[in-house]
Formats: sequence, C-alpha cells, structure tokens
Amino acid sequence: QDLIVTLDGPAGSGKSTVARVLAQRLGLEFLDTGAMYRGITAMAIARGVDVHTETHLVNELVRHCEIGFDWATDPPRLHVRGQDLTGRLRDDDVTGGVSAVARLPAVREVMVREQQRIGREHPRLVTEGRDQGSVVFPGAAAKFFLEASPAVRAQRRADQMRAAGRRVDVERIREQITARDAADASRSVAPLICPEDAERIDTSEMQLDEVLDLLTARVRA
Ligand code: C5P
Repeated sequence: QDLIVTLDGPAGSGKSTVARVLAQRLGLEFLDTGAMYRGITAMAIARGVDVHTETHLVNELVRHCEIGFDWATDPPRLHVRGQDLTGRLRDDDVTGGVSAVARLPAVREVMVREQQRIGREHPRLVTEGRDQGSVVFPGAAAKFFLEASPAVRAQRRADQMRAAGRRVDVERIREQITARDAADASRSVAPLICPEDAERIDTSEMQLDEVLDLLTARVRA
C-alpha cells in the first residue's frame, strides 16, 4: 500500500536524521530533497558558474540536467548528469550557494517534477525538505513540521559534522544556519512554511528516540 510521509523544517531541526531512521523503522524508502538542490549547486560550481550572480546560467544548466539517486546504495547516492556528486554536497561552497539556487523558479519547477516522479516510482517513502508537505506531496498520508531553537540547531549540525570527521566551528555554523533560514523564509517561491495539515513538533528539548517514537506512533495510528 502506498504511504508517503513528509518532514519539513529548517536546517538542523533534526529532520534529516529523523527521516532516515523513521524510514528504516517503517520499512519505507528515504528521499533527501535538500541533496538534490545541493547537487544542482555543486554541478553549477563545477562548471565555473557563480550561482549568486549568473542565475541565467544556472537556469540553463538545470533545464538539461539529469538528476537522480542510485537506489541500490544505502543511503542512495546522488548523480547529476551521470556524475556522483554525493561527496561534495556538504562542502562549504555548496552550502553557501544552495539558497541562491533553490530560490530560482526554474530550478524549483524541475526539482518538484523530479521529486514527484520519484514518489511515483517509490510510493512508500519518507521525504524530507522544505516544501514536501506543502507543494510536492500535498496529498501525503502523514505530514510533520520539525522545529528547534537556533542554538540547538547549530549544535546538532556541528555534532553531525564532527561525527562525519569534519572540522567544526560552531559559531560559523550558527551564522550559516541563520543566513540560510532567512534566505529560505523570505524567498518568493515556496518559502519555508508549516503546511496547515502538518503536525508541528518542537524538538529542542527532545531526544532523537522520543521524536522517532512520536512520529512512528502517529504514522501507524
Ligand atoms: O536540507 P538541506 O540543508 O540539505 O537543504 C539545503 C537547501 O536546499 C536549503 O537551505 C533550501 O534552500 C533548499 N531546499 C529547498 N527545498 C527543499 C529542500 C531543500 O528549498 N525541499
């Protein structure tokens, strides 16, 4: 039976970890839509495009891009035009450029279409992003909006990066998160909002297991 679960929220709200583990628990597949916006950004940078100023070039690139995941790997690796860009997605230059790319209507149009196609091909899915419950899968069976205080979100992102063996500057991460949130919330297309029919959960004071238990119970109910 088809089952789409959407998780939206700002950076560091815990949604990526929650979405991945929730998918495992429920036996669903997991779609990281932020990785797709990051992949387009990484591809543009690799071609020497300044994503902040050369928006016409980004628009041009996205129109001809093939983007998709290799579902045989766990977690799925991201390919853009046949190139595996998974290792680039969390790099500073990509993180710094992704909001500029994600606000372009032409980019969003292609991403939304691709995500809906993935949803048709993998109809048992936990999907994570900013617009999954509002725009991409308005008919999803269960919708959640995760939030957390800025301090908690910066700390979580720092822990995540440390666990991945990267050097971490928490203050810098906090600045990046705040800047990205402001850009994501103020853009004219698909600004980050909590869908009306989503359950809003503040995870600031919650442990990962508590969030997972709550969501699992809701989806199974
Ligand atoms: O979730 P993540 O931090 O990887 O997302 C990176 C960026 O991609 C966000 O800051 C946002 O600009 C954009 N994004 C989006 N819509 C989504 C997922 C991500 O605009 N569904």
